[in-house]
Amino acid sequence: MQSNERLIKTLLKRLKTRYRKEMHTSLNHETPLQLLVATILSAQSQDTQVNKITGRMFRRFPDAKAFAEASPHELYPYIKTLGLYRGKAKNIVGAARMLSYEFNGVIPRSIEELTRLPGVGRKTANVVLSNAFGINQGIAIDTHCVTVSNRLGLVHTKDPEKIEGAIMRITPMGEWGNVSHLFIALGRDVCTARTKHCDRCVLNDICPSSYLKTVKVVK
Ligand code: SF4
Repeated sequence: MQSNERLIKTLLKRLKTRYRKEMHTSLNHETPLQLLVATILSAQSQDTQVNKITGRMFRRFPDAKAFAEASPHELYPYIKTLGLYRGKAKNIVGAARMLSYEFNGVIPRSIEELTRLPGVGRKTANVVLSNAFGINQGIAIDTHCVTVSNRLGLVHTKDPEKIEGAIMRITPMGEWGNVSHLFIALGRDVCTARTKHCDRCVLNDICPSSYLKTVKVVK
């Protein structure tokens, strides 16, 4: 087994022990459509900010048809506290219209179909597939995953698609959803883009970027 495969196995074991309760999306939702909309809204906004505004909006727009019949302007009052809200409103309405006209209002279950919807890239598609349907077709790579996977020495690139491919190659498919949640939890807790709190990190003895001195190599 190559060393990165051993390393990811060790990382996942420790991170599951520390962050088991965070192995799910923190975006509030009751349906796959709500998760899709919330994930579109979460681009460059915190999940907590998104959760504050989605309840009211989902009561007004309960399904794809309701979003499809709205104009983007009608969404503004619900989402204007979020950055980029005009573009997000346009994408949500555009996605709902495509869902209504081409998919009978049902969220499709493949990356290829999901990424045809306006505002939906691989990250959003992976979040929806994994969290709404339990389907692991890829790994959702957000900014936390970019930071953490580089600091752990698993990749040396900021390109989310290259990172996704590299992590997929060394991680069992059944763990693809988990690895995303766990890296996000680690990134939010101790390995933030701005600061490393290696003294509080469960990986500080095996991480090559740890500022502590006693780092072992996992072989
Ligand atoms: S040891 Fe430090 S750099 Fe490595 S993952 Fe933990 S917080 Fe990040």
